[in-house]
Amino acid sequence: ALLSELRATLGQAQVLSEGDLSAYERDWRKRYAGKALGVVRPGSTAEVAAVVRLAAAHGVSIVPQGGNTGLVGGGVPDASGAQLLLSLQRLNRVRELDAANLTLTAEAGCILQAVQAAAAAQQLLFPLSLAAEGSCTIGGNLAANAGGTQVLRYGNARELCLGLEVVTPQGKIWDGLGGLRKDNTGYDLRDLYIGSEGTLGIITAATLKLYPAPLAQMTALAACASLEAAVALLGLAQARAGSSLTGFEVMNGFALSLVAKHFPQLTQPLGPQPWTVLLELSDSESEAHARAVFEGLLEAALEQGLIHDAAVAESLEQSHALWHLRESIPLAQSEEGLNIKHDIALPVSRIPAFVASTDAALRARWPGIRLVDFGHLGDGNLHYNVQAPEGMDAAAFLRSQERAVNELVFDAVLAHGGSISAEHGIGQLKREELARRKHPVALELMRAIKKALDPQGLMNPNRLI
Ligand code: FAD
Repeated sequence: ALLSELRATLGQAQVLSEGDLSAYERDWRKRYAGKALGVVRPGSTAEVAAVVRLAAAHGVSIVPQGGNTGLVGGGVPDASGAQLLLSLQRLNRVRELDAANLTLTAEAGCILQAVQAAAAAQQLLFPLSLAAEGSCTIGGNLAANAGGTQVLRYGNARELCLGLEVVTPQGKIWDGLGGLRKDNTGYDLRDLYIGSEGTLGIITAATLKLYPAPLAQMTALAACASLEAAVALLGLAQARAGSSLTGFEVMNGFALSLVAKHFPQLTQPLGPQPWTVLLELSDSESEAHARAVFEGLLEAALEQGLIHDAAVAESLEQSHALWHLRESIPLAQSEEGLNIKHDIALPVSRIPAFVASTDAALRARWPGIRLVDFGHLGDGNLHYNVQAPEGMDAAAFLRSQERAVNELVFDAVLAHGGSISAEHGIGQLKREELARRKHPVALELMRAIKKALDPQGLMNPNRLI
């Protein structure tokens, strides 16, 4: 009955319930595959509200989905065949760009890259940037509070959003759009929805912050003998470049060896190294100024023994090639087979000690285990991923050992004052961990908010909390 009411409202073509729906029902990592009652593709905020009202009237739960690039299984339906998958992909208009106010209002289904391009067309910058930017959507970025490679300078998705339009679980439309940088008028509903992973309502549009595009950018790879040296290099780069430092990524030798194995066509200018850092500096003065700061920084780092080699990109093309190496790590890992992912945050100062002791503990317990360590060191965010020993069935290892591996890693994360999810969110993957490890009062408050806003429990149930 619900499907025929939806077809009457949205048109036959926008309600899919037959044929191959795996693009919607299976997640990017191919870890979670569910079965939807149907896939609905509304084309406007009013249509999203109508879908939500109809689903609520039938007591049917909704899973919102943007680009389906999430890494924690939050945007795919469960196996019951009773959940409605609501795709935001047709809400893909940039509604307004206000260059004087440095804001852009985009619908939730806009692909991140399209928003970056709309800003660039006006010599402006929308700085959110991540390897999935060709497919992930603004709504998904905000629902997951995505981080990415520019957080060091510009903050994560939360810091880049000034206003939201949301369809509530009752199917009402909250118009909270607008480009205000100051608005102290009560509880911050915008911040409540950002990072709520579709559990409190559906984001249909957002007003985003833009920045003047930098005049010059410099990118380099630098080879470090240890993670301690990489952390010291970060301190030096921050002292010398200040807010011009826009990227500081770290990759261990095994991560780049997987890239070499699965993407041999990609040149690795420094060859195998214990740790490789990717640095980026964005300058609003001039190309010459950027180069002088950058070269001065690398020379000082060499003199201080923090790095022993470096490769500076001499063109935009070379800069893209260096970033491409970094961004190929998640793809190389999935080519290698299933792995146990940990997207963790730690105080930067604790990262070397955490990695040394946790690597040792994992290797002692599972000899031969392979560790893919990479991530946004400048933000204290590591992707600390565990790959099965060479030759072992990766899926079997994951099935039998994931719980024990997580226990060891997350205990260490908390002992070092960290978080079990830095930027990917909770979804299905970390829901139980969150319930066990988040402060009980915080959990109580989160459950009270969920109950108050979504008393029927129909918005993305059993995800996050
Ligand atoms: P989806 O996967 O469709 O959904 C994600 C969650 O948001 C789900 O819970 C879904 O229900 C909910 N949701 C989606 N749209 C809405 C909406 N409009 N309203 C309410 N809820 C909604 N993430 C990072 O933070 N940093 C990275 O560097 C990064 N790198 C990545 C690299 C690769 C190769 C891949 C595949 C992923 C990466 N991710 C990264 C994870 C992912 O891309 C981000 O989480 C992204 O923000 C998800 O956007 P999406 O549109 O694909 O959302």
